[in-house]
Amino acid sequence: MGSYNKKSVKDIDVKSKRVLLLCDFNVPMKDGVITDEKRILETLPTINYLIGQGARIILCSHLGRPKNGYEEEFSLAPVAKRLSELLGRPVRMAADVVGEDAQKKARELNDGELLMLENTRFEKGETKNDPELAKKYGEIAEVFVNDAFGIAHRNYASNCGVASYMEAVSGLLLQKEVSILGGALNDPQRPFVAVLGGAKVSEKIKSIKNLLDKADVILIGGAMAYSFLKAEGICVGNSMYEEDWLPTAVELLQKAREKNIKFLLPVDSVIGDSFNENCETRTVRGDIPEGWMGLDIGPETAKIYGEEIKKAATVVWNGPMGVFEWDKFQQGTLDIAKAMAECGGITVVGGGDSAAAINKFGLASKLTHISTGGGASLKFLEGEELPGVACIADA
Ligand code: ADP
Ligand code: MG
Repeated sequence: MGSYNKKSVKDIDVKSKRVLLLCDFNVPMKDGVITDEKRILETLPTINYLIGQGARIILCSHLGRPKNGYEEEFSLAPVAKRLSELLGRPVRMAADVVGEDAQKKARELNDGELLMLENTRFEKGETKNDPELAKKYGEIAEVFVNDAFGIAHRNYASNCGVASYMEAVSGLLLQKEVSILGGALNDPQRPFVAVLGGAKVSEKIKSIKNLLDKADVILIGGAMAYSFLKAEGICVGNSMYEEDWLPTAVELLQKAREKNIKFLLPVDSVIGDSFNENCETRTVRGDIPEGWMGLDIGPETAKIYGEEIKKAATVVWNGPMGVFEWDKFQQGTLDIAKAMAECGGITVVGGGDSAAAINKFGLASKLTHISTGGGASLKFLEGEELPGVACIADA
């Protein structure tokens, strides 16, 4: 699907080589226990492939946001332990990232064996893409395999800097992400429907602009719908709209009209009398009364959007339709998710909260792809080249 013009791990010989495999093991943890291991499961295809090829595997990832070097609560040791259980083979743990212990244990690896380095962010140079740090990764390994789409929009030592010190190729998950998202966006089967929602219009302006050049239909929901409705002269009450962005909203609406793109806004909303899980609710068409705020798209909107989605050959969705975290305002997001599940075309979800919503509804298996990278997939929708992908060798 789509064209992928980067070198993949399958294009090179990794037998007996020390392979640095960057993963996204940034899993949620509570008291040292992993509460959702989805991200670990996603890395298994590449890891199993490398084991099968007889590579010497050196895993690395970040976890959370440690500020002062080593901190036990951010150690990757629990991830190494869980991964070892999942693989049914040992995963040795290094005491540091690229220090003496990591270097020593990396040299001791035999074919098919695994070593986990400590949290990449224990090194201060990581987020500054310090070349000294990147060079040390180059001393640990001979080949770099990037499977961390989740940080591909960042320019860090462990995902970009390292590529200057050894051959860099993509892992199977990163390849899947880029080819599905890239294919959907740049070479879509039509009609191509984009669904955009979420909290802030300001965060999504660039992706709307980019999608105006690509999509046939754009469906707007979430809080950002109220900036557009306000720009159209509709009363939005206390809804979360962004005053500063109203002129931009006007421009985008204008551009959609000029380009003859179907750019749909909600015709009804589920509203609340405060931003509170236990607030009073109502469903209204058009204007929202003073003192009330729009917290979900209404049933009529969901029906109209659902029909567009079911007719689509490609759907890309970023941003929930309402405050889906609260049951009273989840229906719109659920209806859209169900329509995506029923759509026979390619259905892709990007965005951390949107993915969480799909998982909450148990519909993930019904869609073509749920991106593992919230920020990275948004950058992708914006049409930006991701630094973590750019530095991978061309095929
Ligand atoms: P994603 O992570 O999928 O890109 P965003 O981070 O942009 O999505 O937005 C998700 C958040 O938007 C959710 O926490 C949701 O509660 C909130 N949201 C959606 N609709 C509304 C609304 N009408 N009013 C306030 N918040 C909303
Ligand atoms: Mg979010």
